[in-house]
Amino acid sequence: MRLLVTGGAGYVGSHCARALCDAGHEVVVLDDLSAGHEWALDRRARFVRGDIADRALLSRVLDGASFDGVLHFAAFLDVGESVREPLKYYRNNVAGTVTLLEAMRDHGVRRLVFSSTCATYGVPPRVPITEDMPQDPINPYGRTKLAIEWALRDSAAAWGLGACALRYFNAAGAASDGAIGEDHHPESHLIPLVLQVALGQRPHIGIFGDDYPTPDGTCIRDYIHVEDLASIHRIAIESQQAGAFRAFNVGTGVGTSVKEVIDAARSVTGHPIPAVVSPRREGDPPQLFADPSKAQRDLGWQARFADIRDVVESAWRWHRGRPQDGRGS
Ligand code: UDP
Repeated sequence: MRLLVTGGAGYVGSHCARALCDAGHEVVVLDDLSAGHEWALDRRARFVRGDIADRALLSRVLDGASFDGVLHFAAFLDVGESVREPLKYYRNNVAGTVTLLEAMRDHGVRRLVFSSTCATYGVPPRVPITEDMPQDPINPYGRTKLAIEWALRDSAAAWGLGACALRYFNAAGAASDGAIGEDHHPESHLIPLVLQVALGQRPHIGIFGDDYPTPDGTCIRDYIHVEDLASIHRIAIESQQAGAFRAFNVGTGVGTSVKEVIDAARSVTGHPIPAVVSPRREGDPPQLFADPSKAQRDLGWQARFADIRDVVESAWRWHRGRPQDGRGS
């Protein structure tokens, strides 16, 4: 298939572009490099530097060739920033996606796979989370992703878009060969921060609250390996029919606490990784983990990385192997 990957220089997008190239698809990456990295680009893909909100650019890209589908990763994703600057998030995530959808509609591109998030559920009534639970996000980031899901549903009904929303849990890990991995600036995610402690770049890891109603008092999340995310995107775009909207939770189904992540990192790295309990972070639900059985049933997909140690180990290979000045290897 000929596929456009927006945000294909970012963390999940770059692993996905790679998996699509591996599967023999023809890939064009569109990325403005505001958060993505040139080193994460797959050499087999054509790269266009630019913004999804640039309608003239989108028309030039889509005019040149007939695309079978789009995988849409380009978005801002910092929850805290979305609270401080909501309009930046509505402008980039929602308005940018509307521009992309208009261009797709006008060029007859009818298949889309969208990076959605478990943040669209807000605080779920129970875990594991199934796709039919109410979507009631508790921050602007989650609301922008939910607004896009609505635009996709309505476009499926009105003009025959075929769209698949993949609601990720916590993306984690790095490419098995260590070539690409996670690199956010500033970094706010637990696993990279813990590994930065092991590399001597930080004195300790702060645990955001140890008085949650969970077995060890720390928050529970579902850490899904980025290569498992890449494989479900490939399956989703290959199987997507025009005119239909579908949504899947993408997680392992296993919940892991903050303390368990730190323990896994201690055992993988051999470093003591000092931890200091700090106050709860606002807006953190105690437990989020997926019921991934719908994806298993409908797409025949299952996470290969189910053990947190394997996830942390792949992230460690990447973090340890790269230059210490913040650039990729
Ligand atoms: N967390 C933590 N210390 C940190 C960063 C994160 O205790 O320095 C916790 C956070 O409260 C959450 C979990 O680790 O329970 C995963 O957080 P992350 O920011 O990686 O992803 P999120 O769940 O927010 O998408």
